[in-house]
Amino acid sequence: MVPLRVIGAGPCGSVAAISALECGHSVHIYEQKETPGENVRCSGLISKEGLESLSGFTNYKKHALNKIRGAIFDCAGYKLKVDSGRDIAYVIDREGFDASLAQKAQDEGAKLFCGKRALPPFGEGSIIGADGPGSMVASHFGFPKIRRFAGTAQATIRHDGQFKDYVRVFLSNDKFPGFFGWVIPHNEEYAEAGVGCVLPSNPDAALDCLSRLIGTSIPKERRYSVIPLERRRKTALSASRRNILLVGDAAGQVKSTTGGGVVFGTKCAKLAGKYATSPKDYENAWKALYGHDLDAHYQMHRALGRLSDSSLRAIGSIASAFRVEEFLEKEGNMDSPMRMIWPGLLLHPIRTLVPK
Ligand SMILES: Cc1cc2nc3c(=O)[nH]c(=O)nc-3n(C[C@H](O)[C@H](O)[C@H](O)COP(=O)(O)OP(=O)(O)OC[C@H]3O[C@@H](n4cnc5c(N)ncnc54)[C@H](O)[C@@H]3O)c2cc1C
Repeated sequence: MVPLRVIGAGPCGSVAAISALECGHSVHIYEQKETPGENVRCSGLISKEGLESLSGFTNYKKHALNKIRGAIFDCAGYKLKVDSGRDIAYVIDREGFDASLAQKAQDEGAKLFCGKRALPPFGEGSIIGADGPGSMVASHFGFPKIRRFAGTAQATIRHDGQFKDYVRVFLSNDKFPGFFGWVIPHNEEYAEAGVGCVLPSNPDAALDCLSRLIGTSIPKERRYSVIPLERRRKTALSASRRNILLVGDAAGQVKSTTGGGVVFGTKCAKLAGKYATSPKDYENAWKALYGHDLDAHYQMHRALGRLSDSSLRAIGSIASAFRVEEFLEKEGNMDSPMRMIWPGLLLHPIRTLVPK
């Protein structure tokens, strides 16, 4: 039997491989790094609910660096604090997390080939392209292009531990055009400071702006990467009796508001493994289940990216007047805006006008 080839042993490649093995495929995974998870650029902030959906694949708690209970939003100077009063997300050590998923795929029977880049035409048989934002599988097989990316820069900083349980998010289209800055605490001593801005803006200059905003110097040892900010219009096809599916960042299955791609990417990866030989079913299934949420993230990302800093400040103060923090504390959902918007968020302003 010609094996199914999975290109890339990131979280989406490994989850797709495990799902395909469960459906009876023989699977080969190709990873260009020496070991899966090496040098991952991800901040590792993942919702608890999203991680729970992977509990059959890895014990995520083993890879947790920190627990997060809320966020402090800086809307171009206007601050909002959302404290859910419970752990809603974890900061995950992606290196260990990715390695454990790749190990699980091998334990289930996949063969993993590391240390060599897979090149077109990627051997015989069907392919799952899980090869990240610069997917060579996508370009070789002529999939529609992703045209919108955020350029990112990150560095490890020391902090005073005051906001150990909170992510800090800095919105300003002057400083971080089209995206945002963040500080994600890893523990009481260290945090990751990072920025993204829609390319071709310069993330390095944006990281210097973040440094001034938080009053902390950011070391010159910085890590750079890109995040796809829109999904590909087509993610599966049949060509010369081969089925080619794209998954995860390669498919643009990313929350455009935050750049988070692990939750939706791995959810789609389960479907990619299941429908590895049926491209149409894969495309229909993931779009039906997750397309609305990903589209909502994209629309919110575009709307926020167009606002001037004075509009962002005004929105912050209006949100506070309508006690949106209270709503987010109870009903907030990092992954699924659709579950939050209707009817809860739309009814919330009316409720705040009714005296208690
Ligand atoms: C700065 C930054 C911060 C982020 N923060 C978060 C966050 O907090 N939470 C979150 O959920 N997401 C976050 N993300 C996004 C997240 O990292 C990705 O969505 C996720 O890693 C996508 O997984 P993947 O398996 O699709 O791709 P990847 O993790 O990119 O894995 C692709 C793999 O394919 C391999 N590969 C590529 N080409 C080839 C080839 N030709 N042959 C062999 N191997 C190949 C690569 O080496 C890589 O290991 C962040 C991203 C960035 C850049």
